Amino acid sequence: MSRLTSLLRQLVAKHVQDLVPYASARRLFSSASQSTDKSAPVWLNANEAPVAGDYQIDSGLYNRYPDCQPDALIAGYADYAGIQASQVLATRGADEGIELLIRTFCNAPDDHILICPPTYGMYAISAATANIGVHHAPLNDDFSLDLDAIKAFKGRTNLVFLCSPNNPTGNQLALEDVVNIVEHFADSALVVIDEAYVEFASYNTTTLLADYPHVVILRTLSKAFGLAGLRCGFTLAQPEVIEQLLKVIAPYPISAPVADIAIQALSASGLASMQTQVSTLQAEQAQLVNVLPTIGDIELVGRQDANFVLFRTAQKDALMQYLVHQQVFIRDQSKQLKLGQCLRISVGTAQQNARLITLIQQFYAIQEATAL
Ligand SMILES: *Cc1c(COP(=O)(O)O)cnc(C)c1O
Repeated sequence: MSRLTSLLRQLVAKHVQDLVPYASARRLFSSASQSTDKSAPVWLNANEAPVAGDYQIDSGLYNRYPDCQPDALIAGYADYAGIQASQVLATRGADEGIELLIRTFCNAPDDHILICPPTYGMYAISAATANIGVHHAPLNDDFSLDLDAIKAFKGRTNLVFLCSPNNPTGNQLALEDVVNIVEHFADSALVVIDEAYVEFASYNTTTLLADYPHVVILRTLSKAFGLAGLRCGFTLAQPEVIEQLLKVIAPYPISAPVADIAIQALSASGLASMQTQVSTLQAEQAQLVNVLPTIGDIELVGRQDANFVLFRTAQKDALMQYLVHQQVFIRDQSKQLKLGQCLRISVGTAQQNARLITLIQQFYAIQEATAL
């Protein structure tokens, strides 16, 4: 063992020793993306928008540190969400909001957060990096909240994470269930509603902020706004909650070019193109929903209240392999609770979706031919 290896073994924090670096959707296929295959790879595995917007940046002030919370950015998002500027915190993606909530409101190693799997992976990952425990209240078989299971954790959790619409099952939670949970934890925990996909859904929960001071909402520019590369998200909460998070956030989390671009995305014309893009994706999604169940043994799973489609097939490994070979990348969700044999497709452009469907049809045609 080298001297460095043994030194690190001695120094790395105990709760960090067994962690592994996050396997982002792109990192899973990093070698494939460098392949020499001529056809452009099609990325339908991270729920990103399929097209990028056009933005201007002004480097005239990049010699100066940016504001921690740039006024125009905060005002822009507050207007968009219909709340006060004092209720908005800008972060490096919604992921940083998750991390800040855990670091601000949980004591290591005894405190816990509560999650409802199958759901977004970063809640548990952020808890693990902060040496915080995770309680599980699995969703019902129809992916609604198991209210009794969640409520049983009262007094044993500091944060309750509800993801709505949920990734990867695609269903927006019933508002009455969300309110039911919020009321139950009124004096014991913050209830965090992750609305990363809210622009694709039929309602939002911002009105709950006024009635329930312990509600926190997470938002992002990564999905409907098509700015995953920007790393910009928002935490919406009462000013007192935001004040606590400001104690823990980095001094300059929002770099000047990020603020410049995000402000343009939140302008009237930026919002209009976001809404157009959402409608286009919803029309494309409807096509996928029509066609997919007619192919092979494919069965849709969950709902389509966000920008992706989840489905089940007994052939999921062979199908994934076939698609990867053709440079089309979707996401395996089969390791998640209740999602055995499930794959997730992010809705792409009309061309990308057509290519995907053609390949899936070819795959099953080959399967049938070789089975004869
Ligand atoms: C993508 C996603 C996020 C993370 O968004 P970023 O702003 O890119 O960090 C948060 N929550 C859910 C449910 C997501 O799917």
